[in-house]
Amino acid sequence: MGRVTVVGAGVIGLSCAVRLLEAGHRVDVLARDLPRETTSAVAAAIWYPYRAWPADKVLAWSRETYEVFASIAANHADSGIRLQAGTEVVARRDERPWWAEAVPDLRETLEVPAGYDGGWTFTSQVVEMPLYLDWLVGQVLEAGGSITRLNLHGLPATGRGGPDAVVDCSGIGAKFLAADPSVYPVQGQIVLVEQVGLDRWWVDNVNPEGPTYVVPRSRDIVVGGTDLDGEWSRTPSPEVASAILRRALRLVPELAGAEVLGHRVGLRPARPEVRLERVGDVVHCYGHGGAGVTMSWGCAREVADLLG
Ligand SMILES: Cc1cc2nc3c(=O)[nH]c(=O)nc-3n(C[C@H](O)[C@H](O)[C@H](O)COP(=O)(O)OP(=O)(O)OC[C@H]3O[C@@H](n4cnc5c(N)ncnc54)[C@H](O)[C@@H]3O)c2cc1C
Repeated sequence: MGRVTVVGAGVIGLSCAVRLLEAGHRVDVLARDLPRETTSAVAAAIWYPYRAWPADKVLAWSRETYEVFASIAANHADSGIRLQAGTEVVARRDERPWWAEAVPDLRETLEVPAGYDGGWTFTSQVVEMPLYLDWLVGQVLEAGGSITRLNLHGLPATGRGGPDAVVDCSGIGAKFLAADPSVYPVQGQIVLVEQVGLDRWWVDNVNPEGPTYVVPRSRDIVVGGTDLDGEWSRTPSPEVASAILRRALRLVPELAGAEVLGHRVGLRPARPEVRLERVGDVVHCYGHGGAGVTMSWGCAREVADLLG
């Protein structure tokens, strides 16, 4: 038990902070962007392993997170997490998804829009990120942790008046804070439209024009998306937004005429493999790509285990 500084206040930093506080550590979160300003706040977000590696670890972390989300959804109505069924459409029905064993009710379906061969229907979890991040902040503060805005130029030094350990959850910032050239942005743009009574999510990762998904939330619907490797801009493009809406309409015709409420862009912190390892007094936990929400609790538990 000791004093731990967590760098980063996205879904990874806050989840780690919660588990570390539960383990009895004193925890201070330092972050340049506060939770609602992070990439995490832009995420759609559904539980869905996407663009993160290595597959065996991603599967284990995702499975653990699925269970924790189910329990949070059942016990905390204010968490912004809801179990919701939906369908991932596919071009050809062949193998089951590689993450199939992590969900309890995956089944094949032929109830898909024209142009698709079929799909996989299952209960996922919709995580309404602005609400969920607020809830996580509440958990950190209630347990005695602190969250402070600070733009760091290096990871804090440990010992001699500093913390006993540092947990590096800086997402794309790890490129600089951890001097890790293998971290790169995968830009994602989304459009927020009004809720039109939709109660299922849809995902199409086989569209050659780009990943397409529709995730209904309590007050709006997230319509995505893009995944551009190496693109740093966080400015939404009107042309890209129109293309996203066109593709989404094919997937979910009920969206026709829905009012556009806003546009967002986020930079997924990608890496050939998630880095979760302890090096001296520092635990690195970054590089979660397109599935940081999906893996958050599995990774946070492992970080807490590494600090004992
Ligand atoms: C459009 C889009 C849709 C997505 N959909 C999903 C989805 O459906 N499901 C899913 O699981 N994932 C999804 N993702 C991916 C998910 O958003 C990320 O994997 C996740 O947010 C990464 O979380 P993080 O906490 O590591 O990083 P971030 O949320 O980026 O947080 C990093 C933190 O580190 C801080 N930091 C960085 N550098 C410094 C510094 N120098 N000093 C101080 N602080 C610093 C930042 O300020 C921030 O607080 C989506 C992403 C996008 C863009």
